[in-house]
Amino acid sequence: MGTKRWHAELAWLGGEVAADVLIEADGERFTAVTPGTPAPPDAVRLPGLTLPGLANAHSHAFHRALRGRAHTGGGSFWTWREQMYRVAERLDPETYYSLARAVYAEMALAGISCVGEFHYLHHGRGGVPYDDPNAMGAALIAAAGDAGIRITLLDACYLAGGIGEPLRGPQLRFGDGSADGWAARATELYDATGHRGLSHARVGAAVHSVRAVPPEGIPAVAAWAADRRAPLHVHLSEQPAENEQCVRAYGRSPARLLAEREALGPRTIAVHATHLAEDDIRLLGATRTGVCMCPTTERDLADGIGPAGDLVRAGAVLSLGSDQHAVIDLFEEARAVELDERLRTRRRGHWTAGELLTAATADGHAALGWPEAGRVEAGAHADLVTVSLDSVRLAGTEPAFAAESVVFAATAADVRDVIVSGRAVVRDGRHLIVDDVPGALRTAMTAITRDG
Ligand SMILES: [Zn+2]
Repeated sequence: MGTKRWHAELAWLGGEVAADVLIEADGERFTAVTPGTPAPPDAVRLPGLTLPGLANAHSHAFHRALRGRAHTGGGSFWTWREQMYRVAERLDPETYYSLARAVYAEMALAGISCVGEFHYLHHGRGGVPYDDPNAMGAALIAAAGDAGIRITLLDACYLAGGIGEPLRGPQLRFGDGSADGWAARATELYDATGHRGLSHARVGAAVHSVRAVPPEGIPAVAAWAADRRAPLHVHLSEQPAENEQCVRAYGRSPARLLAEREALGPRTIAVHATHLAEDDIRLLGATRTGVCMCPTTERDLADGIGPAGDLVRAGAVLSLGSDQHAVIDLFEEARAVELDERLRTRRRGHWTAGELLTAATADGHAALGWPEAGRVEAGAHADLVTVSLDSVRLAGTEPAFAAESVVFAATAADVRDVIVSGRAVVRDGRHLIVDDVPGALRTAMTAITRDG
């Protein structure tokens, strides 16, 4: 790939915003970052504010097909889930590849350099495995690569249709029969990904939730992740009903149950963490478990506002995800954490713009098992996102407040240039690999939502 040089008008380097930053890379990694340097003639100019690559730490790519469709007629999380199952029923490895590639291309246009795909749609209709039992996971990994972004495939164990309930209907496609069955299949995917030498993909583990994995299955998934030092993600307490069912069945909260089954710790990411008791917050903080907030999904599904401030004060590390992709815009997720907390507490100033950017970049990448990414510094993955300051939303931005302006007023549409692992993926707002991203989304969506 060779040496590359970019010159950022302004760059956020983790603390202050610096001007005239020369950024150099060799292959996939940065080699030098030098503020206060005039642009050499061979450097690619990046006008605006340049950030590290954004990490979308929680995604279910196929939920993108529900955008708009799931907004009619009110309903609840549980009726939304029925609609989501209907889309899941239509997908096979080819149609899922096409949809995911388009969705990941949308992510690239929004400045996302790495996605955490929480993947549970493993098998064919009725739960019959494909010839390659990891055909669906492989399709997602290929889709990310072909959209120009990195992926951590979080392979989810999903064994039950609810506490004490078997898998039914579309859920049959999620199941591996047992935690050992899950581990055997996940190991194949893990080993195959390593053997293929795919530098854009890593494989981690997920416990779908305490609804979907019985307590006796949790330690096997946790041990699988621990043995590989891989991330372990889990949906936690998104709905009060999950807490009530868990307490009724097991006499403890979901967080306490996960802790007792060795599933909490610094490599674990609790997704949502919306309805927590004080004891749960202490437990997540004390174990340094990460929390991934998905505010646009949590508000869309009327989940509630999670105690992000209390969790961070207790010791948890924050990351962000667009989850069901009601929108794909990490700036919206980042500011929502602060703005939701303001509504909850009627006070301002819980997070600085820099802290929210850290959640969207370095801490998000670490949550996905890429601790060497998400920073503009020598040695890090050469990911850059440049936000134009010329749009109607950002025109007149003072350089000293560029980070605040972007976090609190930019949208994904303001992203102009995206570099992922040293490769230009978006230039001047155009995806360089997927020619027509809206067209790709339209085609993929039509294939899975038409009647018949
Ligand atoms: Zn989710």
